[in-house]
Amino acid sequence: MKLTPHTNNIYRNSMIANARPARERYIHPVLKQQRELFFGLIRIHVLVHASHEPIFGLAMMEELTHHGYRIGPGTLYPLLHGLERSGLLKSALKSVGGRKRRVYKITNAGKRALEKARDKVDELHHEIHEEHPRELPAVTGRRAPTRRSTG
Ligand SMILES: [Zn+2]
Repeated sequence: MKLTPHTNNIYRNSMIANARPARERYIHPVLKQQRELFFGLIRIHVLVHASHEPIFGLAMMEELTHHGYRIGPGTLYPLLHGLERSGLLKSALKSVGGRKRRVYKITNAGKRALEKARDKVDELHHEIHEEHPRELPAVTGRRAPTRRSTG
């Protein structure tokens, strides 16, 4: 993973965004809702990449942008720290070109969590594309009709 002018722009722009006064950093409710919704997906995405190679924040930000997630350092770094606190990632400071960079590796617990997440994502992927998801019990409290044929 290399630093590209593109990565530098993302980094600079998000640094500028974070330098704004708090009232200007107000997040639109719709974006906030989406953030809540997509956070789990982003965490899984981070684990996927960390399971292949050590990762660092800037490169991960660029990768997430590539997938259509708009996420700045003020959001990504706490997310990475959270994954480390949960024991799914482990970080170390590495010297890269005279600068210190925090590099994250997946832990064994992270690998196990990713394995489970893979099954859940597969399951969700299957259901999200079905015309009708599995039927839930009816609101009336009566049991949902079974699909078993009586013939
Ligand atoms: Zn990716």
